[in-house]
Amino acid sequence: MSAIEEFAERGHERVGIFTDRATGIVAIIAVHDTTLGPGLGGCRMRPYPTLDDALHDALGLSEGMTYKNSLAGLNLGGGKAVLVADRTLTVGREDLFLSFGRCVESMGGAYITAEDMGTTVADMEVIRRVTAHVSGRDPQCGGAGDPSPWTALGLFESMRVCLERVLGTTSFEGKRVVIQGAGAVGRYLAAHLKRAGAVLSFSDAREKALADACREFEADAVSIDEVYATPCDIFSPCAISNILTPDSIARLQCRIVAGAANTQLSTAEDEVRLVNRGILYAPDFVINSGGVILCAEEREPGGYTETRVRERVGRIPETLRRVLEESARVGELPGRTAVRLAKERIAQARRGS
Ligand code: NAD
Repeated sequence: MSAIEEFAERGHERVGIFTDRATGIVAIIAVHDTTLGPGLGGCRMRPYPTLDDALHDALGLSEGMTYKNSLAGLNLGGGKAVLVADRTLTVGREDLFLSFGRCVESMGGAYITAEDMGTTVADMEVIRRVTAHVSGRDPQCGGAGDPSPWTALGLFESMRVCLERVLGTTSFEGKRVVIQGAGAVGRYLAAHLKRAGAVLSFSDAREKALADACREFEADAVSIDEVYATPCDIFSPCAISNILTPDSIARLQCRIVAGAANTQLSTAEDEVRLVNRGILYAPDFVINSGGVILCAEEREPGGYTETRVRERVGRIPETLRRVLEESARVGELPGRTAVRLAKERIAQARRGS
């Protein structure tokens, strides 16, 4: 399917494709659905093999945000941005984010950006100079700061629900968890797991990040290739999208897949493959909404309060439980149930308006 066909098939409202003239760097902003409110979703910065791959990622990620925001009970729609550049870019970074901020502004409020893989709270402050449509800002400037700890907390508590269903226990003691990605979420997650008595392994594309995380959390290092075949109770994808493929699923040696990475399934059929292998898959957009909840709270008229964020993030495991129970009740895959419940809320809002 071509990217333009995918755009129509997924039902996106609009996509903006921009080039920063100074650097030639391309930015893609995809807005999937704004029925519940403006499309809020992070800005991801990474190189892609082709621009089609970048567009494919932006389309999938923004659709995922529609369902994530809906299920999290937020009055926000789905959007996402992709900056096709290396995350380590330093020279001209400020100008790039000013330029990207103007792209966000040109979407007229249909899209609100935030931090994501490869971008930082400092980048959000730069964007803020040219548009108000940005969240996940520096606490010293009135923002709520890094969303990663909240994403990790919602993920960790959701893992308990999975453990209970699959192993009949809510205890992490002695459970082996393989975390793909020793980045922000991966490390905050590891801290919770370690405290709860889990045994950890990490894999990361960056050697230093991997070594540091392994040292800090007394974890084993696993190579990028070995990560799928490493025996464990929980495999937690906390790096890149589309990693659950026929090949990787065939190699998995786990009982549960629960991670923060967005759009982990490369196609919807991959969820069937996971079920056929006897693996419980916790839909990514159900359990990784802690960060977007923080970003949404930052934009509330009264501003952000930790108590309210904690209370909303605390509801994530309940939502997962509801999805798993409903999916078992109607004999549907959890991912499909989650999308259906998210769409039902959107349809209700459409009928009400
Ligand atoms: P991050 O950029 O801090 O960390 C990602 C890590 O993955 C990096 O250390 C990177 O080197 C590593 N990585 C990249 N390719 C890899 C590969 N092939 N194998 C192993 N490791 C690889 O990002 P993050 O904020 O920790 O987010 C992790 C994932 O969770 C992303 O997919 C992000 O979109 C998603 N997510 C994050 C949040 C949040 O609050 N940060 C919220 C929801 C979803």
